[in-house]
Amino acid sequence: MKTKIDIISGFLGAGKTTLIKKFLEEKLCNEKIVIIENEFGEVGIDGTLLKKSGLEVKEINSGCICCTLVGDLENSIKEIMDNFKPERIIIEPSGVGKLSEIIKVCEIDSLKNITKVNMLLTVVDVERFNLHISNFGEFFENQIIYANTILLSRTQEATEEKIETVTNSIRKINPKASIVTNPWNSINGREIITLAENDLYDSIQDQDEVYLNAHRHHHHDAPEVFQVWESETSKVFMKDEIKDLLNGLQDKENFGKVIRGKGILKIDGNKWILFDYIPAKLEVKEMSGDYTGRLCVIGTDLNKEQLKDTFNNIN
Ligand SMILES: [Zn+2]
Repeated sequence: MKTKIDIISGFLGAGKTTLIKKFLEEKLCNEKIVIIENEFGEVGIDGTLLKKSGLEVKEINSGCICCTLVGDLENSIKEIMDNFKPERIIIEPSGVGKLSEIIKVCEIDSLKNITKVNMLLTVVDVERFNLHISNFGEFFENQIIYANTILLSRTQEATEEKIETVTNSIRKINPKASIVTNPWNSINGREIITLAENDLYDSIQDQDEVYLNAHRHHHHDAPEVFQVWESETSKVFMKDEIKDLLNGLQDKENFGKVIRGKGILKIDGNKWILFDYIPAKLEVKEMSGDYTGRLCVIGTDLNKEQLKDTFNNIN
């Protein structure tokens, strides 16, 4: 049996890690699985969280596996096959990775006999579809075009009209993919996987001609467009102020255009929080102790000095 390769793609903050956790809990708990976790920044936060659940996780950080780290992806898959021979490899690309480029790596000749591309699933945040398509269309559309299955996230917070408008827009970009619009808490991971594994997969070459010929002139690698600011910090934040401080990330004048922020920070009372920021949405959870605070902010025109002043110890 060839090892299945699942690629769970989606823009920054769409909910990829949450979905992978759902799969692991509700369907894949008995399979031998290795996860490849790619973070655009250097500080691996999702990887740390997945490792805590005892999984084999290979982290590829500080860049994007579709462009700058394409060789690392190929080597990691080979290494995993040599050392573990899992039934399944789940790849979580960075939110700015182009799905087409990642599929190409997975289909190279030296891997073809031992692995096969299986699920090509893209998570789309229904509330931020317009924001992402109008600002980062090149990266975002690629993730939609090459997916076989598209899963809308945060539909429980959206109106029916909104869901329908976004579904129609996705249809125009990719007429063939199955689109799942049910709220995640009402569907089981098993149902999603069954659907995604039945969605037909055309070899990348078949689709490529049309799309790449039309877009070749505008090809950018993620690092040309997106910036990362990240840091470890021993600063202790005030519990009462932390939410206001993190919500302040939407202040473009102050920080630049922040698309994603995540991290682990220490708060008073010797406690820790895990935060997840995307435009107009902040999640903060308390978590068990960690060794040091660290955070990662991704965006365009970032004011790194201001971020440093705010989140690092100044004195
Ligand atoms: Zn890339």
